[in-house]
Amino acid sequence: MGIQILLNNSLTKSVEPFKPLEGNTVRIYSCGPTVYNYAHIGNMRAFLFADLLQRVLRIVGGYDVKWVMNITNIDDKTIRDSSPGSSGWKSDMGTQTDNPKENLFKFTEFYEKCFFEDIEKLGIKIDDFYSLPRATEYMPYMQELIEKIIGNGYAYVSEGSVYFNVNKWREKGTYGRLYNIDFENFRAGARIDADQYEREDVNDFVLWKHRKPGEPFWEFEINGENCDGRPGWHIECSAMEKELLGLPFDIHTGGIDLKFPHHEDEIAQSHAGYGIDPTAFWCHNEFLEVEGQKMSKSLGNFFTLRDLTAKGIDPLDIRFAMLSAHYGSTYNFTFDGIKAARKARFRLQDYIYELYETGRDEFNDKNAITNLKDEVFKNLADDLHTPKAIASLFTFINSNPASTLDSEARKSAIEFFGELNKIFAVWDIGERTTEVEIIPPDITELAEQRLKAKSEKNFALADSLRKKIIDEGYTVKDTKDSYVIEKNV
Ligand code: AMP
Ligand code: ZN
Repeated sequence: MGIQILLNNSLTKSVEPFKPLEGNTVRIYSCGPTVYNYAHIGNMRAFLFADLLQRVLRIVGGYDVKWVMNITNIDDKTIRDSSPGSSGWKSDMGTQTDNPKENLFKFTEFYEKCFFEDIEKLGIKIDDFYSLPRATEYMPYMQELIEKIIGNGYAYVSEGSVYFNVNKWREKGTYGRLYNIDFENFRAGARIDADQYEREDVNDFVLWKHRKPGEPFWEFEINGENCDGRPGWHIECSAMEKELLGLPFDIHTGGIDLKFPHHEDEIAQSHAGYGIDPTAFWCHNEFLEVEGQKMSKSLGNFFTLRDLTAKGIDPLDIRFAMLSAHYGSTYNFTFDGIKAARKARFRLQDYIYELYETGRDEFNDKNAITNLKDEVFKNLADDLHTPKAIASLFTFINSNPASTLDSEARKSAIEFFGELNKIFAVWDIGERTTEVEIIPPDITELAEQRLKAKSEKNFALADSLRKKIIDEGYTVKDTKDSYVIEKNV
């Protein structure tokens, strides 16, 4: 028996006790990446949050978990960047052909592979997923759902595309349960084709887009009308979650920007088509920001995991940095923040190593480790409060240095950290073997300053910074937009 888990439900806007709908298994659906480029670490926050949730449900809650995350391999951006002549095409993807579907698959499979490599580096295990479905593999299910929505009178065909009739739906269901929608500018019958749009643009949204010349398409005929084309972005999630998890399932996750339009549209589609809401529990993570702004491709203020590892940053320090903030608060990304996370992670790692050394004969607080575990797990059960859990760890290790523990307490502490690591997944549980060789943050900082100096054409400063790095025993090599640091041997 696990501990009662409390979660903040975006639908009710309150923290509620969570219980699976059926038996002991929690069915979770997470909106996954659009594989048109490398995911940035803002995106990664959303996936790390879902990973934390599923781990806490298993280890603290004692549940089994069925976790599904979709791969969006067809949308406006994947089509745009896989089309001939696009600068998004890389030679590693092979050669482009005159078959748009083939190009789309080669292009998206490349970024899908990169995505899996990146999340594994961040400690997310591919084996923990029940399924990682690609949108294009669920076309018949999407088409079937679209036909159902049309059949129920909540969607219509226009010039080979299909639109969801928001006004009609509002007569029956609610639109705007996760997100307060402003209907002031709403014009019944006005349509929006874009996958992503703003609150001001709330209109009939697209379920299926009629083919355009040169674009990949799937055959679709509706009431004798040719509707060959491809799905809008929202429909894939409604179809895949029903097919893979059944409706209603337990928890839906995503970043807060997905509340509208993506999740609002998902609720409307599922309810209008299948007659049921997808889930009653929606959990959203807040943004990872850079200087007060959402990290995003469009603002250009992003780092991919590859950018950061090339700067010598250990992905596990990024994982731990994200764990040190609550998922429901914004996290401001800075190199200093990563440095601090690394320091904290290694302080705890050292403690774990020390637990394997010999200690005292006697330790008088017999319940110390049980109490620590209770407190840490209670914090995690309280809406995944990782910062409080980490604070409890530090309070404990500061007042109970490893050298003061007797062998029994050490054994329980090792066991406890081993269990906690099934959630945190940032430590090496075992005896200290070799010192891990990674680039110290100070060196990364010098390299950052050098990059900045170069971009400002201050080559004298850039040169002196390079010399400094060499003096410290490292070499900095330039890449196209960044650099790589290597330790001199
Ligand atoms: P996308 O590939 O754009 O569909 O985004 C994948 C996931 O990343 C979604 O759950 C988004 O809500 C989430 N996301 C995007 N940018 C950020 C950010 N700066 N911070 C946290 N989550 C984000
Ligand atoms: Zn989705």
